[in-house]
Amino acid sequence: MIKRIYKNLFSEKLRVKIRIYFNILISPFYSGQQFYCNCCQKSFRKFLPKGNIERENAQCPYCGSLERTRVLTLYLRNETGIFTMKRPKILHVAPEYSLFRILKKLDAEYVDGDIDPAYARNVVDITDIHFPDNYFDLIICSHVLGHVPDEAKAVKELCRVLSPGGEAIIMSVLDLDSSVTLEDSKIVSPEDRLARYGEFDLCRLHGMDFQDRLEAGGFNVKTIDYRTHFTAAENAQFRLGDGKRELIFSCRK
Ligand SMILES: [Zn+2]
Repeated sequence: MIKRIYKNLFSEKLRVKIRIYFNILISPFYSGQQFYCNCCQKSFRKFLPKGNIERENAQCPYCGSLERTRVLTLYLRNETGIFTMKRPKILHVAPEYSLFRILKKLDAEYVDGDIDPAYARNVVDITDIHFPDNYFDLIICSHVLGHVPDEAKAVKELCRVLSPGGEAIIMSVLDLDSSVTLEDSKIVSPEDRLARYGEFDLCRLHGMDFQDRLEAGGFNVKTIDYRTHFTAAENAQFRLGDGKRELIFSCRK
């Protein structure tokens, strides 16, 4: 009941802000040395659990980064030129706060966008992106496509707005043991989606054909397990995940 009252009192946009400030407030209780978040550059004795099927020590108590965000941030810092590029144009779809707070400080044309205005400063529908062809130098679209009903259209749109020479970094939750994507139009209820796809709001569970699905939209794709660039000790300290959510699909055209 308290949850319902809270939901009625505050808009989703406000609740997102409250969550962020609440996390910042409680994070000192987690301070320690065992885990390190490379997004906010703080150390903790533990991370928070996360997921519909809970993962231990997954989320940074301060900035909210997840395993995949930490891998993505390492990749962006080490392998892309966006931190030194002169005013890059960046599209960040469904922006994770932990990465948003880093990218918004760049001298860049930074467009953070979501179909729901509660979650970003710009409304962006990735099946109909309101930008010209070849516009963005960098696109970040992490853990979005599994939620989009018309995925093929979204991939084509992402490819359309990417500049030649630019890079789209696309990530998704994957079934590493399946060669094909599991997608069944009869799986619609949140309970069934959770049971079959592992998350209550996914439209599909990508298999190892995810690269093919991106290439079908016009991209040239390189699949990168960036966790392998770090030692086992670093993987454990940074909590870089098990690979199901952290593979990077580096897409160019
Ligand atoms: Zn953090």
